Amino acid sequence: MSQNNCQLSMGDIVSVCKRRGFIFQSSDIYGGLQGLYDYGPLGVELKNNLKAAWWKSMVHERDDIEGLDSSIITHRLALKHSGHEDTFSDPMVDCRDCKCRMRADHLLVDGKCDRCGSKNLTESRQFNLMFRANFGPLEDGADFVYLRPETAQGIFMNFKNVLDATSRRLPFGIAQIGKAFRNEVTPRNFIFRMREFEQMEMEFFVEPGSDEIWHDKWVEERRKWWEKQGLSSNRLHLFRQSPEELAHYAKATVDILYEFPHGQEELEGIANRTDFDLGSHSKNQEDLLLRSKVCPNADSTAKLCIQREPRDGGGCLVPYVIEPSAGLDRGILAILSEGFSREVLENGNERLVLKLKPHLAPFKVAVAPLAKNNEAIVNLAKSIVKNLSSSGLGRIKYEDTGNIGKAYRRHDEIGTPFCITVDFDTIDNHSVTLRDRDTMQQQRINIDELAAFLRNKLLS
Ligand code: ATP
Repeated sequence: MSQNNCQLSMGDIVSVCKRRGFIFQSSDIYGGLQGLYDYGPLGVELKNNLKAAWWKSMVHERDDIEGLDSSIITHRLALKHSGHEDTFSDPMVDCRDCKCRMRADHLLVDGKCDRCGSKNLTESRQFNLMFRANFGPLEDGADFVYLRPETAQGIFMNFKNVLDATSRRLPFGIAQIGKAFRNEVTPRNFIFRMREFEQMEMEFFVEPGSDEIWHDKWVEERRKWWEKQGLSSNRLHLFRQSPEELAHYAKATVDILYEFPHGQEELEGIANRTDFDLGSHSKNQEDLLLRSKVCPNADSTAKLCIQREPRDGGGCLVPYVIEPSAGLDRGILAILSEGFSREVLENGNERLVLKLKPHLAPFKVAVAPLAKNNEAIVNLAKSIVKNLSSSGLGRIKYEDTGNIGKAYRRHDEIGTPFCITVDFDTIDNHSVTLRDRDTMQQQRINIDELAAFLRNKLLS
């Protein structure tokens, strides 16, 4: 057993991620592009496993959330009416008193808010965050579109489509996982702040009035979910934003912070977005009795609301929205920095081990033949791989590089929960050695019992 262990620094995480094939700098043979990363053979497995865990808990294990996969390329008007475009290319300041956002060069001469005259303004900030692209064959810039800066707007624009197709009643949610793009001024800290990243977002539509209760429930749900992914509760912190910090659409926001190697920062934000988004994307807003302040919309063709039953008073209701919005890449960084540890063993040797939860591990089991040129042993090892692969456990790796010691070290480092060794005794007594990544304990187990044993360990 290990005597003590310590976590890795950010630099060590970056280097092991490259060495073992989790994450590479994007376009690195041309000098790289800042804020862009590629997920390698193991990284893509880990990322897919984390997405699957989120989807399972949000969509499959509940009966009140539908899924969506909307386009990345987004209509210019959508991001105009969402409020993103106003803040596209100029330094902006916010008035803390009337909440108005204005261009810094639009302030009254003496630095006062041009709406209410207050001097209580935030520092000027650069909001040049959205990526523009030409749409169609002409490059005259007239028909430009945006790469979405968040997945949420695709959900709001499909609110009515999903509602009509599923006949949902409140409360219900729409979940989406996908890429988002922000031209961050200073991308940094590896995959923490990127220019192309992935979000896991869910918009949960509720009756106004029940929004605060639902907000609290989602904060709790989400915190618990991150713990199930292996993050320890003492490294997760809740932070309620002050009124000055709130985004223009939010009534309240609670951030889930994690103690990343570079410091404590946001992993996920859970916002109460009120009726701002559905209201902003609707026509005839005056019919909707909106509670939030929205800009007029002469472009939308829809009223994004729910038709009330006559017995409930009839008319249109625009639900409030609670939005848990998590960064997938930040999740990967948190899981890697939590999971990697350097252990000093009793014999004085060191090992690097990645203690991933089994459902996240890229490989569930590695199977190694003790003698690589003994046909009987090799065939037996390959048949074990084949059987386990078809039993729904996840990815099983046939491992014949290096000696057994090296194979154990490699699979410790990439988080494989179990290694199986097929040796000469296996031919006689049909049993293999099974090694546990975390305890390093080994046991003999009959081949016929392997699948049931592993299913119990890996899937329960
Ligand atoms: P920050 O304050 O760190 O810039 P944010 O408050 O702007 O984040 P949101 O707009 O709330 O972030 O986005 C929701 C989630 O998306 C964040 O909690 C984060 O996990 C993720 N995210 C946002 N920007 C980035 C980025 N540049 N790179 C990686 N993940 C990001």
